[in-house]
Amino acid sequence: MGLRIEKAILRRVEMPLKFRFRTSFGETTVKNFLLLELRASGLTGWGECVAEEGPFFSSETVTSAASITRQFLLPLLLGRSLESPADFERMASPVRGNRMAKGMVSAALHSLFALAAGQSLSSYIGGSLAEIEVGVSLGLSQTVEETVANVSRHVSQGYRRIKLKIEPGHDIDRVAAVREAFPVIALTVDANAAYSLKDSDHLARLDAFHLDYIEQPLHHEDLLEHAKLATRIETPICLDESIRSLRDLELALALEAVDVVNIKMGRVGGFEEALRIEERAAAAGIPVWCGGMLESGVGRAHNIALASRAGFTKPGDTASASRYFDDDIVEPLLDAQNGLMSVPRKSGLGVEIRHDVLARVTAEIESFTP
Ligand code: MG
Repeated sequence: MGLRIEKAILRRVEMPLKFRFRTSFGETTVKNFLLLELRASGLTGWGECVAEEGPFFSSETVTSAASITRQFLLPLLLGRSLESPADFERMASPVRGNRMAKGMVSAALHSLFALAAGQSLSSYIGGSLAEIEVGVSLGLSQTVEETVANVSRHVSQGYRRIKLKIEPGHDIDRVAAVREAFPVIALTVDANAAYSLKDSDHLARLDAFHLDYIEQPLHHEDLLEHAKLATRIETPICLDESIRSLRDLELALALEAVDVVNIKMGRVGGFEEALRIEERAAAAGIPVWCGGMLESGVGRAHNIALASRAGFTKPGDTASASRYFDDDIVEPLLDAQNGLMSVPRKSGLGVEIRHDVLARVTAEIESFTP
């Protein structure tokens, strides 16, 4: 069924986080992000952009993504009739990079088309699971003791996998202490590209702790070095920042640089590419899981839908929303119970926007019509 895009509303939102989230890139205390609302035939679709305030995880930022969306992406849609969200991917293909901006539009279109089809977003994109296993990503703590206490809290909440952010100087001691306290939990680490190949021997010390994988240890653009590291350590290598597209994955597979893939729909520019990566990884026998970027309820709903596909065989980062926010912009709140998150079954996004909360956290708003 075709839909004519009649209106777009782009918001910049500032939601206070309940805690400081520290990674090797720096600290976040407020979640500053873009939210896109697309309207057609009396229906509304919602998409969230995973670009952050600064160009550290990715070269895209909230400001750059807003600019690209306004100047290049929305003009492709407004007043046009689309047969499916894939039409947008094709129309936007001349725009290079800027995948997070494209991912936001893709997300809004998918929730809009799912709603029009009377399907949940999960079933619209081929998801089949009624609930998904979730893990949690823990930011860097000040001390080893705090790290173990934080892990303990989240293990008792039932999370199915614990991920520790690490950086040089805050790694082996923390992992060793956590592994000693919790000998059998599924444990992983995420370096966000904080190491270099010179650290191979140091990273090999992690082999003793039978981690499920080490995520993005080396430079985000260096698959060759990841391939070399893979021959020097036993811990499987999971790539996040390095996999921006199916082409990146093909190269990583050819180089034997990857054992596990973290798929973030926003990082790869839309649901179509995310699904292609999932399918290619499955064909290569590489497990995938759904990553997170501290999303609000809108982005979290999209992640849960993606992770409800059968190919996502490892627990993802879609932890409980109430862990991050006092007040989310959707209801019901997307919270996990004992490490399991129910997949919303209602049509479209599957959750309702809380317009009162959204109005309170909206910092800027722009409307666009054909
Ligand atoms: Mg990561």
